[in-house]
Amino acid sequence: MSIRILDAKVWTPTDLKEAWALRERFRLQSSFVAGGTWLQTQWEKGIPYPSHLISLENIAELEGVDQREVNGKQCLYIGALTKLNACGQHPAIQKLCPLLSAGIQQIAAPAVRNLGTIGGNVAHGLGDAIPALLTMDAEVLFFDGRILKSEKLEHWLKGRKRNQESLLTGIILPESQHSSFSNQFFKKVGRREAFSGSVVTVSGVISKNEAGVIDFARLVAGGGENTPKRLQETEQLLIDQKINFLLLKNVYKTILHEFHPNSDVFYSNDYRRRVTANIIVSELSRLGEAS
Ligand SMILES: Cc1cc2nc3c(=O)[nH]c(=O)nc-3n(C[C@H](O)[C@H](O)[C@H](O)COP(=O)(O)OP(=O)(O)OC[C@H]3O[C@@H](n4cnc5c(N)ncnc54)[C@H](O)[C@@H]3O)c2cc1C
Repeated sequence: MSIRILDAKVWTPTDLKEAWALRERFRLQSSFVAGGTWLQTQWEKGIPYPSHLISLENIAELEGVDQREVNGKQCLYIGALTKLNACGQHPAIQKLCPLLSAGIQQIAAPAVRNLGTIGGNVAHGLGDAIPALLTMDAEVLFFDGRILKSEKLEHWLKGRKRNQESLLTGIILPESQHSSFSNQFFKKVGRREAFSGSVVTVSGVISKNEAGVIDFARLVAGGGENTPKRLQETEQLLIDQKINFLLLKNVYKTILHEFHPNSDVFYSNDYRRRVTANIIVSELSRLGEAS
């Protein structure tokens, strides 16, 4: 079925194959639409909208949250079309992935979270849910026109130009031990009055053993027009270390060395990476004081 709004035609496929066939038919003149809230911000900036909008809202299999086995592992599955609010408030996500719930609470206002979806947040590559998902080693499930495939979100984001041709169907969160570590943080620094992108969005999970030695570290930074990425050099530096002044100094320097966000009209690259380094050093010193 299709209806015409303004000068775009809206298609409402009811399954993945139909959605894919429409995309193949209209290619660059088309776009998938989930909640439409990110696309709206693009069109408001004057970016032209395509003449064919392929709405995913009638594809029932894209919605919902459940626990299931994927490739022999117990996982939390989140359908791509699940609304941000439904995700953030879902009891299983709050229990098994509190970092994601906390991150979602910091996206826009409730009205936008009632329309925007987790799949849309991930698919445009800049969403504030991504740092929390990367910290949790999330995978994405996507339809390539023939079959459903899974890939680590981290890798999928790196090949995003290619992925514009894929249809995201869900997010998989492995039920791993580190989702229960108490040293988790999600920090978003930004202006709240409009959607101008955050200055930085930083997420982390760090654990220490009984001797106070760090035995696990996952750190992710993004924000603005920067696709979130893991800070692997800094993670490596932390492993097998005790938190002390010298380590914190080295962490600060390493973050400045490995994180290279873009500048925009509001914030420079240098400001963004210093804010990121400050947040992480402050979380680490809090963890150090707790020992
Ligand atoms: C006032 C306002 C404030 C906002 N604040 C924030 C904020 O603080 N943080 C933040 O992260 N975002 C913010 N946003 C942007 C947006 O609301 C979220 O990123 C939201 O999660 C996008 O989801 P959506 O379903 O609306 O995506 P859509 O706009 O429908 O789609 C986004 C992109 O993803 C593609 N897409 C969508 N679903 C799929 C799929 N299943 N498979 C493949 N491609 C797909 C679309 O083609 C499009 O390119 C804001 C928006 C507004 C209007």
